[in-house]
Amino acid sequence: MSEKEETKQLVKDFKGYLEFQARMGNGRVMPAESAAPERGKKSAKPPPPKAEKKSDEKPPPIVIESDLFESGGAGSLPEIRDDIGDCSRCKLHSTRKTIVFGEGNPDADIVFVGEGPGRDEDEQGRPFVGKAGKLLDKIIEAMGMKRADVYICNVVKCRPPDNRNPEPDEVAQCEPFLIRQINSVSPRVVVCLGLVAAKALLKIESSRSLGSLRGVFHLYGNSKLMVTYHPAALLRNPAFKRPLWEDMQTVMAEIEK
Ligand code: URA
Repeated sequence: MSEKEETKQLVKDFKGYLEFQARMGNGRVMPAESAAPERGKKSAKPPPPKAEKKSDEKPPPIVIESDLFESGGAGSLPEIRDDIGDCSRCKLHSTRKTIVFGEGNPDADIVFVGEGPGRDEDEQGRPFVGKAGKLLDKIIEAMGMKRADVYICNVVKCRPPDNRNPEPDEVAQCEPFLIRQINSVSPRVVVCLGLVAAKALLKIESSRSLGSLRGVFHLYGNSKLMVTYHPAALLRNPAFKRPLWEDMQTVMAEIEK
């Protein structure tokens, strides 16, 4: 790419980011058309803050191979739900109201994986329907899709009390069902929303940071896997919007190939 083409691409990416912010309800952001400074004039506002210092040195992508992916033996989504039954395999069953299995397109190109149901999800029996879910809907729309186009599920299917992180024994009990869900949908890309999902699927040490995992494709069986910020983290820290949008652009480019 020539320097001129690179500059053009950068401006295009930045405009896309501004449009993304505007769609996500950041009223302070100008529409993309008016946001780009005129040639020779200085922009009135500085660019949005960076979420983290970019390091050129990312650890190599992680590759997860599994016999299950080749065997195609996951079964259909309704069969997997039936196998879960009225589950009491871990202690979360005693405090949950509803098992939140997952929902969406059984042939989706993208599967989003969160950590576990919160209060709203536990009430309604559907994943990502609370505040973080509304933001996930906007992210999906900003990617040019509808919620019904993708598949959405969680590492654990029952709400951890007080929204604590799921514990290793709880993850271990639910994991075979998550792997079967992903294998059944067989998406082009799995998106891990947050570290809990990333650690569960990529089998990594607890010391790895999200920043060191995001931004590159890992391999998960036959799917590519992108780690990005959990929507709830964006609600706490809007500076994460930019890297998340970069990650979603990488995912979209993969889907459009
Ligand atoms: N957070 C998650 O990780 N999953 C949900 O379903 C809702 C909130």
